Amino acid sequence: MPADRMSAIPFSGIRKIFEECDRLEAAGEDVVHLEIGRPDFDTPEPIKDAGKDALDRGEVHYTSNYGIEPLRRGIAEKLAADNGLQYDPDGEIIVTSGATEAVFCTVVALVGPGDEVLVPDPSWTYRPSIETAGATRVPYPVSPEEGFQPDVEALAERASDDTELLIVNTPHNPTGGMLDADHAAAIRDVAVEHDLTVLSDEIYEKIRYDRDHVSLGALDGMYDRTVTVNGFSKAYSMTGWRLGYLAAPESLVDPIIRLRQYTTTCAPSIAQHAGVRALEGTLEAPMVEAFERRRDLVADRIADVPGMTCPTPSGAFYAFPTVPEGVDDETEFVYSLLREAGVALVPGTVFGETGTGRVRIAYSNSADRIDEAFDRIEAWLAAR
Ligand code: PMP
Repeated sequence: MPADRMSAIPFSGIRKIFEECDRLEAAGEDVVHLEIGRPDFDTPEPIKDAGKDALDRGEVHYTSNYGIEPLRRGIAEKLAADNGLQYDPDGEIIVTSGATEAVFCTVVALVGPGDEVLVPDPSWTYRPSIETAGATRVPYPVSPEEGFQPDVEALAERASDDTELLIVNTPHNPTGGMLDADHAAAIRDVAVEHDLTVLSDEIYEKIRYDRDHVSLGALDGMYDRTVTVNGFSKAYSMTGWRLGYLAAPESLVDPIIRLRQYTTTCAPSIAQHAGVRALEGTLEAPMVEAFERRRDLVADRIADVPGMTCPTPSGAFYAFPTVPEGVDDETEFVYSLLREAGVALVPGTVFGETGTGRVRIAYSNSADRIDEAFDRIEAWLAAR
C-alpha cells in the first residue's frame, strides 16, 4: 500500500496535458506546444564540448557531495558578481541534481510536522517537498493587480508562530512576474519580524527582459536566513543534464548536505564539468534575446484576443493571461482547444487557486509556432 502522504502528491496536471498531446500526435494530429516549461534550444556547443572532454578524461566517478571544487568556485564568483551574495565555496554551496533536488532537500531538511511553509499561489510545484516533509503548505497570493508581485500584506497576515519557511520565486513561474525592490524589501521585513528561513528560487534569473533581478539573500538581515536556489536548466538550456545548486550559510547547509548524501549523493560528474564552462561565458545571451522577441510577440497576440489580458511578462518564458471572453472554465478551455485546435496550454489552476480563469502560455517555441497557435486560437473562438 502507498504511504498516506502520497495521497497529497498527485500526478502533475501538466503531465496529463503531455499525455493528451502524445495521444493526439500518435493519431497524426499536429500539436503546437506552448505547455512545456523548458527552453527549446540545444545546449550551447562549448558546454557540450566540456561535457564530452570530461567524459573522454574519465571523469565518470562520484564527486564530493558538495560538488567539484571548480564548479563551486565558479558559482561563488557568479553569485558575488551577479547577485551581491558572498558565499564560501567550501561549505556554503551545494551542487545538486537540478534545482528540483535543491528545493526538495532544503524543504525536507528544514521543516517537519507542525511547521508551516508560505508558498506563492500560483506557483511551481513546491507542494510534493512540503508534503514529504509532513509540513503544512500555506499559500499567499501573487497578485495580477500588482503586475504579479507577491501580495505582501496577505503574506504577512498568513505568517504565524508556526511559520518556518517562506518560499519566493523570481522571475516567477507561471506568471513571468519579477519581484521589484519595494516588494523585496517588504518581504524582507516580514521574514525578519517572524524570524523565517527563506528559500529564494532564482532558477529563471538569467531570462529577464527589462527589470533588474533582486536576490533576497543580498538584502540586509537576510544572509543568515536565506537559501538561494539556482541552476543551469533554464539559462543554458540544460534541463536534461540535471544540474542546479543552492547557497546558504553553513548552519543551513549542514542539515541539507546530510540529507543530500542520501538522495542522489552528487550531481552527475559530466554535467558538473560542463557547468564550469557554462559559467565562464555569456552563452545564454542569444537565447535570452530570442525569448524577448517571443515575449513581445506573445504579448501582442494576447492583446488581440478579446478577454485575454495579463501584465507583460518581465522574465522567465511564461505568460499567464485570463481566458478569452465567453470561456467559463480554464480546464475545459485547455482540453477543448487541445483536442479541437491542436494548441497545448496549461490550466492556471494547476499552479494554485489564484490561477482560476487563467492559462499558462510557455513561449519556449519558435515565433512561427507561436503565431500558428494564436491563429488557431482565434479561429477556434470565431467558430464557437
Ligand atoms: N523552480 C522553478 C520555478 C521551475 O520552474 C523549475 C523547473 N520547471 C525548477 C525549479 C526546477 O528546475 P531544474 O530541476 O530543472 O533545475
